[in-house]
Amino acid sequence: MILVTGGLGYIGSHACVALTQAGERLVVLDNLSNAKRSVLERLRELCPDAILDFCEADVRDRGALARVFAAHRVEAVLHFAGLKSVAESVARPLLYYDNNVGGSLALVEAMLAAGVERIVFSSSATVYGPPLSLPHREDHPTAPHNPYGRAKRMVEELLADVARAQPGFRYVALRYFNPIGAHPSGRIGEDPRGEPNNLLPFVTQVAVGRRARLRIHGDDYPTADGTGVRDYLHVMDLAEGHLAALARLRAGGGSLVANLGTGRGHSVREVLAAFERTTGVRVPFEVGPRRAGDLPACWADPSLAERELGWRARRTLEEACRDAWRWQCDNPAGYPD
Ligand code: NAD
Ligand code: UDP
Repeated sequence: MILVTGGLGYIGSHACVALTQAGERLVVLDNLSNAKRSVLERLRELCPDAILDFCEADVRDRGALARVFAAHRVEAVLHFAGLKSVAESVARPLLYYDNNVGGSLALVEAMLAAGVERIVFSSSATVYGPPLSLPHREDHPTAPHNPYGRAKRMVEELLADVARAQPGFRYVALRYFNPIGAHPSGRIGEDPRGEPNNLLPFVTQVAVGRRARLRIHGDDYPTADGTGVRDYLHVMDLAEGHLAALARLRAGGGSLVANLGTGRGHSVREVLAAFERTTGVRVPFEVGPRRAGDLPACWADPSLAERELGWRARRTLEEACRDAWRWQCDNPAGYPD
């Protein structure tokens, strides 16, 4: 079985669908700090024949982890559980080190105690910090400039140290760029609590009438149209990256740190235009000041993932907009409680 921590969250839930459709049996561990229980019902509805066990627990709870490993024959772990707000990590750094680093430490300890030696970790492009040059390559220096990114880098280092010390232990750390979109069924998607931080959920909430207008955070960046540029990838492409990482570990491949992105940057205005073109819905916006801590541009060199994992992003920005819109229209208030 595969243990999926944080498997009811945005990315984890999409990975669960990709995994079960590939025939994997899963046990999901999630403390519901940023997910609703109804996600589990949606997963079971999308994957009716799947073996999908659920354990409501915190990844820092060593007793709960020991029980999960004792009750299931876990072959590998996909570790999504973590907090993900950069702004909150600046205000509450210890919470992020405790949850994201402490949680990973407890998990790896429990894995070793149970003889489980394969893990795929959700890292982030945030580990790079301000780029010396673009696109980001895995051998570029890392210089995260907030506690969220530093916690991600610490976990990458923790995994590398354990892999050095423990023959047999192998990991893949995937540095995600900007996941967007939803499963094409419209049954699962991104459901942020409160006001969305991220661009596309904000856009879809404006389009569906939950918010009056988008605020573009600055149009005076040194980019083609002045708005920020990011590497947006469809969440189902990202989910499939985890299947590729798992296949590598099963085939005896070595530990790896790899970017998952498309290799193409799009500006805020380009994303808006793609959304409007795809959906036919106009999105009112205003231009505000820059958001503190934002970088002008960030995109991946995904060639290592293609070489080492045989993975590349296949879906377009338009498909991601269409799928995000379907999810938002079918679930205007997000998941039911
Ligand atoms: P999410 O908040 O939707 O999902 C995370 C899940 O983990 C939630 O279901 C939450 O309840 C659970 N969780 C959090 N702390 C936990 C704990 N201590 N014990 C058990 N469960 C816990 O976030 P997401 O967007 O799906 O992100 C998944 C992972 O990918 C995170 O580690 C995040 O840092 C990383 N990541 C996300 C992005 C992004 O843009 N969404 C980009 C780069 C990396
Ligand atoms: N952005 C924006 N308005 C919003 C949210 C985001 O203009 O309401 C911009 C943001 O400044 C950045 C891009 O959209 O240039 C992507 O932001 P997001 O928070 O989704 O990703 P991140 O900045 O963490 O890569």
